[in-house]
Amino acid sequence: MMFNMVKSNAKIYVKSSSGIKFCDVAGEDEAKENLTEVVDYLHNPDKYKAIGASMPKGILLVGPPGTGKTMLAKAVAGEANVPFFSISGSEFVEMFVGMGASKVRDLFKQAKEKAPCIVFIDEIDAIGKKRDNHIGGNDEREQTLNQLLTEMDGFEGNTGVIILAATNRPESLDPALTRPGRFDRRVPVELPDLKGREEILKVHARKICVGPNVDFSVIARMASGASGAELANIVNEAALRAVRRGSKAAMQADFEESIEVVIAGYQKKNSLLTDKEKMIVAYHEIGHALVAAMQTNSAPVQKITIVPRTSGALGYTMQVDEGNHYLMSKEEIENKIATYTGGRAAEQLAVGSVSTGAANDIEQATRLARAMITRYGMSDEFGMVALETVTNQYLGGDASLACSAETQTEIDRQVVALIKKQYDKAMTILTENKQKLDKLAQYLYEKETITGEEFMNILNA
Ligand code: ADP
Ligand code: ZN
Repeated sequence: MMFNMVKSNAKIYVKSSSGIKFCDVAGEDEAKENLTEVVDYLHNPDKYKAIGASMPKGILLVGPPGTGKTMLAKAVAGEANVPFFSISGSEFVEMFVGMGASKVRDLFKQAKEKAPCIVFIDEIDAIGKKRDNHIGGNDEREQTLNQLLTEMDGFEGNTGVIILAATNRPESLDPALTRPGRFDRRVPVELPDLKGREEILKVHARKICVGPNVDFSVIARMASGASGAELANIVNEAALRAVRRGSKAAMQADFEESIEVVIAGYQKKNSLLTDKEKMIVAYHEIGHALVAAMQTNSAPVQKITIVPRTSGALGYTMQVDEGNHYLMSKEEIENKIATYTGGRAAEQLAVGSVSTGAANDIEQATRLARAMITRYGMSDEFGMVALETVTNQYLGGDASLACSAETQTEIDRQVVALIKKQYDKAMTILTENKQKLDKLAQYLYEKETITGEEFMNILNA
């Protein structure tokens, strides 16, 4: 039994039985353009050989989880109509303990027999992590990695085996892997922008029944920051919700609700909030919205709700950016921080005491304020000096300080001052508009969910 289990590993999809093509991967035009050359090479390697050009042996697909890296690799095989072998780095480490190196050998043996073909290694960082000098290092992984390097060096450039690998932590890879002749080409696969999100939604919506008048651009706008995988999930959730309603097609509301489901967890069946708590949450959320609306550079409010979610969020204010934002000005960040503090400020103003409800706001505001000072060069004292370096930009970005202890103390002091100033600004805005705050909070308390339009109508009445 054991021997059978370890014998066949790399799943082989001859002639790409998965049938994925570039047109199934929505958006990601740059990545597709990059990979088109590989497809062309696999179709007609002689053209390249004639001129003496060789394809890179290894191509690294780099980007956050769920952005379609696996799909792209399959699509290359699908477009070129060649076999597709795949294996994941974590499989090597978890499932084939003691067998890693021989698995790599097997994989390449099969691949060379079936060339031209695509070999896809998902999560390559699991085996390709930087080797360090820690005592008791992972021998097993090192052997696997060494075998991979040996195999890659062992075959000539034009054998027709192209290795695609995916990672969301390119900076953690062993430099030996990215040396010329190995994974020396890098294709970024980024989170989709507004247009990309709309396209991805439409691709997945083809698989379900969609009602009339569903506006995917509105849904894409609301789902800002979502990955392809999350968007696929949103479409499926919309279909499930339609079934629960007894409807034959998914409507606009199903999609909009699904965004919240995917982003914030399922709506709780029974309200666990006391009336007093509900009122505090209403003030808190209106506080965010009011501060946002009163600042010129802040995105308009799309929707506010105080229906609790299983994720633990008691309510939230959904802001929607007009179009895509690649740059943020100092004023915009300050306004954003003020908006984060608006929830707590409203509690203080209306109830005279504060609650734990602002924990997440505090975290977000602090992160922004720190980044302004340590990374964006937006403090007068430090100017354009990098005080922090980001070590992993694809997974939310862990930052590490690169300055002296005294500077660190000064950074802390400035972060506190910056947030205090924005809190005071939020408090001023709310105090000046106290009547509107009361009226809006009362309205939200009664309706539980209100749209941006309702909010603006009351605000401008
Ligand atoms: P990754 O390998 O980057 O983690 P996958 O390729 O496994 O992501 O994507 C997971 C799922 O998300 C896919 O099966 C698909 O349903 C959806 N998806 C992700 N990106 C896209 C895209 N650009 N177009 C269409 N669907 C996508
Ligand atoms: Zn809040």
